[in-house]
Order: sequence, then C-alpha cells, then structure tokens
Amino acid sequence: MPETGVTVVGGGLAGCEAAWQLASRGIQVRLVDMKPVHFTPAHRSSDFAELVCSNSLRGDRLENAPGLLKEELRRLHSLLISAADETRVPAGGALAVDREGFSALVTQRIRNHKLIRVECGQLDALPEEPFIIATGPLTEGGLAEEIEKLSGTLHFYDAAAPVIIADSIDHNKVFRASRHGRGDDYLNCPMNEEEYSRFIDELTNAQCAPVKGFEENLLFEGCLPIESIARRGYLAAAFGPMKPVGLRDPRTGREPFAVVQLRQDDAAGTLYNLVGFQTRLKFPEQKRVFGLIPGCENAVFARYGMMHRNTFLNSPGFLDRQYGMIGYPLRFFAGQITGVEGYVESIASGLTAGVTMAARLRSHEDPLFPDTTAIGALGRYISTDNRNFQPMNVNFGLLPPLQAKVSGKQQRYLRLAQRALEDLDGMKPALPEAFA
Ligand SMILES: Cc1cc2nc3c(=O)[nH]c(=O)nc-3n(C[C@H](O)[C@H](O)[C@H](O)COP(=O)(O)OP(=O)(O)OC[C@H]3O[C@@H](n4cnc5c(N)ncnc54)[C@H](O)[C@@H]3O)c2cc1C
Repeated sequence: MPETGVTVVGGGLAGCEAAWQLASRGIQVRLVDMKPVHFTPAHRSSDFAELVCSNSLRGDRLENAPGLLKEELRRLHSLLISAADETRVPAGGALAVDREGFSALVTQRIRNHKLIRVECGQLDALPEEPFIIATGPLTEGGLAEEIEKLSGTLHFYDAAAPVIIADSIDHNKVFRASRHGRGDDYLNCPMNEEEYSRFIDELTNAQCAPVKGFEENLLFEGCLPIESIARRGYLAAAFGPMKPVGLRDPRTGREPFAVVQLRQDDAAGTLYNLVGFQTRLKFPEQKRVFGLIPGCENAVFARYGMMHRNTFLNSPGFLDRQYGMIGYPLRFFAGQITGVEGYVESIASGLTAGVTMAARLRSHEDPLFPDTTAIGALGRYISTDNRNFQPMNVNFGLLPPLQAKVSGKQQRYLRLAQRALEDLDGMKPALPEAFA
C-alpha cells in the first residue's frame, strides 16, 4: 500500500462514509474532492456530504425500508447517520436534517480525523490503487470518460426541488400539521378544486429549461418532476405529491382538495422546501407557477429546482456485491454511481466499500452482509445479472420473503426488519475486524 494509504475520490455521502470507516480501522486515507475550486452543476457548498436536493433521509420507522437501512447503518457506526441524528429537524416520521448543519458536522469530523488527509482537486484519471471512487452521478472531467471506458455507463435524469425563505410565506393561508395527526411538522398549503385546476393547467403548460440530451422516458420513476407527474393526468398530482390524505385544514375542518407540503430545511426554520416538487421549469416559470400555491404568492426562492443527467455504472458483471471491481480486489466504487439510488443507499454503499477495503488490506475475509439485511440486499442487487439494470432505492422487495406467513403488510415489513437486525447482529461476533 502507498504511504498515502487508500485514496477516496469524492467527499460526498458515500466518499465521506467510506473514508471514515477506513480511518476508524486505523487505515490512512487521502480524500480528494474538487470542491471548492470546482463544483458540479448541482453542488454549491464547500462542505463535504452536501445534500443536493431534499433535506430528508426519508422514513425512520422500521416498517419502512429506508428506516430499516438507517437502523442497520446506526448499528454499523455510520458517521453520516450519526451526524443526521444529531442535526435532525422536525419532519413527522422522516429523518430530515438541517442541511448545512449536517454537512458542516460531517466536514468537521472528517477534517479532524488524524488519519484522513483532505486534498482539493479534480481527478481526471483513476488514482493509484488502493482506491474508492465515489464521485457521484455528476462525476466530472476526464475521470468520467475513463470510468465510461472501463465499464460502460448508463444514465437517467434526476431533478431537485426548490427551497423558499420562510419569511416570504403567507402564514395566514397555510396550516401546520403532519399527516394523520402525527405532530405539526409541516406547513401545508391547501387548495380547493378551482385553485388546483388552475395550478395544474399552468404547470403543464409552463416552459421547461433545456437539458442536453434530455428524454422524458429516462426520468427516474421515484423522483419525477412535478410537471411530468401533472402531465400524466389531471388528478395524478392530487394522488401523488399533492395528496391531502390525513391533513385536515383547521379552518374548514375538512381535508382540502389538494395540498402542497413545505418541510423545514434548516434548524433555524428560516428555509422550507416544497416536498415532491422537483422540477425542470425555467426559473421565472417556477416563480410564476409556484406563486399560484396559496401562501406562496410572494415566495422568495433561496434555491430554484433543477434537473441533471445522472450517470451510473452498468454494475452487474463489473462490481461484486461489496462494490469492488471484479478482478481488482483493491479497486472500489461507491455511491450513486454504482446504481444504488438515494442518499441513504449511497451512504450504505460507502460503508460497505470502506469496511471491505479495510478487511482486504488486512487479508481478512470480506464482511458479507446477509441478503436478509437491507444493506446486503442492495449490494446483491447491483451485482446480480440484470439486462435492464436501473438504479434502485432500498425496498422490502429486495429482501428474501419470510418463511412463515405473516398477515398484514405492516406486520410483514416489521417482521422482515426484525429478521434483518437479528441477522446483522448475528454476524458481528464472527467478523470482529469488520466492526471494530
Ligand atoms: C439533481 C439531483 C437531485 C437529487 N435529489 C435527491 C434527493 O432528494 N434524495 C435522495 O435521496 N437522493 C437524491 N439524489 C441522488 C443521490 O442520493 C445524490 O446524488 C447523492 O448525493 C449521491 O451521493 P454520492 O456520494 O454518490 O455522490 P455526491 O454526494 O454527489 O458526491 C460526489 C462528490 O464527488 C466530487 N467529484 C465529482 N467529480 C470529481 C472529480 N473528477 N474529482 C474530484 N472530485 C469529484 C463532487 O464534488 C462531490 O463532492 C439526487 C441526485 C441529483 C443529481
């Protein structure tokens, strides 16, 4: 191993987690990121682990797959999940964070670790082994071309939602509530049918920003722009991100026809994002059309929504389930670029790559997370033969079914989660090095 130890390229979600796991096992890390000298089109902060769109790491209950994955990561001493827990903001049953506070905390822990040396620069070629490439879906420069040559890459399009300034919201028109009476974490902008109808009409006819090579059929189904949802049918948004279910407007005592939810984006509560409103509308069109949302007539945008091409490896046949390059035991990839989809999934792949690299450098066996765990199931997904390989969010469908029949979806999910945690805890004594 070179004196510099392991080179981790990319100080995003996966790269920071991988670097931390390596350093926690006594391994020197050189962490390279081009920020703040150069930014991808979606990044803007000079801190590491930047959340480029939503500030939510999704559901936090065990009966929900992202909740299970986060609990597994907690038990595996994930740096990023502990930073998320420490910087959480109210968001009902979800784990949402103070965006800047989260990145600042991760950055501080990374920079203060004596085994991690941070280097600023854009890498245009693969570094010397051992390495972990975690440059994300917007990998820049010559490195992107080199990776493309190695494996062949695929792509889709991903959009981000806008963030508005709390002071500019008309609080007389919105009401505070979480769905089904589970607290009051969200600001809800209620619409009657007339308002909804006008909004959908303007939304579907608004001008979109041109995106190079964009094709509607290459959108990621789990993160569709609001205008694409609206074009699927008049009520599509009202059954999607604008659904009013479980939200009673205190002024009428009834569920509104549709609702736009605003979620707190920072600890101070000065910023709110429009939940599920990722978009590629032109900026002036966002101001005009989203200005039709009751309470947002004079909204000041701290950040507009935008769309980007999102590149990922054709991982099956190229990566093993530990995110290592097949045939090259000390070359790893991690994060969204491997075909996992989402913040928490990217963290999980970074953790797997980091602990496995550490094990391989010490000639230990790979820590194989069982298929029954969410973290293991993701690794299995990206490395399993699949002609139509597409990025995947964690979900219970990736886990093998239960042996015994359990009736009721929630009960079944809870049982799958319990089995996952038992199996994860069960593997720890067998692999002490991996969990040091
Ligand atoms: C527009 C957009 C919106 C998204 N919204 C969400 C969302 O709301 N929720 C969600 O769960 N997921 C979302 N995702 C998907 C995904 O979760 C994020 O992209 C996530 O940040 C991926 O983590 P990562 O560690 O793989 O990459 P990143 O967090 O993007 O980190 C990559 C790092 O590599 C650096 N880098 C890139 N190229 C080079 C180079 N050549 N040399 C040196 N450094 C380099 C970058 O500066 C960056 O810091 C979104 C993705 C995009 C593109």
